[in-house]
Amino acid sequence: MSIVVSNITKTYGEQKALNEVSFTINKGEIVGFLGPNGAGKSTMMKILTTYLKPSKGEASINGYDINKDTKKVQKSIGYLPEHNPLYLDMYVKEYLAFNADIYKVNKDRIDEIISLTGLTPEAHKKIDQLSKGYRQRVGLATAMLHNPEVLILDEPTTGLDPNQLVEIRELIKSAGKDKTVLLSTHIMQEVEAICDRVIVINKGQIVADKNLAQLNDDKQQIIFVEFDYRVEEVLLKELPNITHVHNIAGFSYELHFKSDRDMRSVVFDFAHDNGLKTLQLNHKHRSLETLFKELTS
Ligand code: ADP
Ligand code: MG
Repeated sequence: MSIVVSNITKTYGEQKALNEVSFTINKGEIVGFLGPNGAGKSTMMKILTTYLKPSKGEASINGYDINKDTKKVQKSIGYLPEHNPLYLDMYVKEYLAFNADIYKVNKDRIDEIISLTGLTPEAHKKIDQLSKGYRQRVGLATAMLHNPEVLILDEPTTGLDPNQLVEIRELIKSAGKDKTVLLSTHIMQEVEAICDRVIVINKGQIVADKNLAQLNDDKQQIIFVEFDYRVEEVLLKELPNITHVHNIAGFSYELHFKSDRDMRSVVFDFAHDNGLKTLQLNHKHRSLETLFKELTS
């Protein structure tokens, strides 16, 4: 187990930012830490990286206790903080060399990490001359300089334009091939694009912990159908894999199915077999955003 969190609580004065949070992350997993603003994501990440002490509870990284083995925890972790603080006056290479000194990393690693994070064409520039996307690359390069086993990335794609977004996601995905990654986001699609699993946090509490397959299961298939005549609801409820029948108006229904297969043909055959005509037959998926809203509202 790479990350074990058990019953972590953090209070800021009167406010409980984290309330008895527990989860575990296996070695090699890329996990999305999803939640709206103020949910407690950054607080959790600061605790895991030992920048903050929990008010209560325990956690370990690679078996090292965050309350006791802080140095070893820091060695095991690469951390990209929320606002990616960089020294803007420094040149990319100079900044990485500066960090290599702090982490006592061999200088050869600097060129390696520059190439690994796609920074080569910008490496001679000052950080304040870089686009937000390249600044994120510098942040990621810094986090990975000492080749940690675990990466903790706090909203690594927030504020990027669509092209940069895709590039940084690719970079995280490839960096994550041989690492354990916990990344926070408030975008459900991001989880779908890069993660194996999602842990959803809301108001300091975990409200869901699912792998991608389970998440797709939750995206039920919704079909809107209008018949030319009245139909008994009990008959509709006998359709295969149906979970919900809702009479919207007149002879129109919304049907929910839990199935990977396109159920429109089943509904069409049902109408035919019962001497009905289908006047409308539309297909819509419940979006991931709807799911996110349901979990966090
Ligand atoms: P997220 O990263 O999910 O947006 P945070 O962990 O930053 O959430 O914040 C969780 C809650 O704790 C928020 O309500 C926030 O206002 C509060 N909070 C965060 N940091 C502090 C702090 N240093 N002092 C007081 N309250 C804080
Ligand atoms: Mg945050």
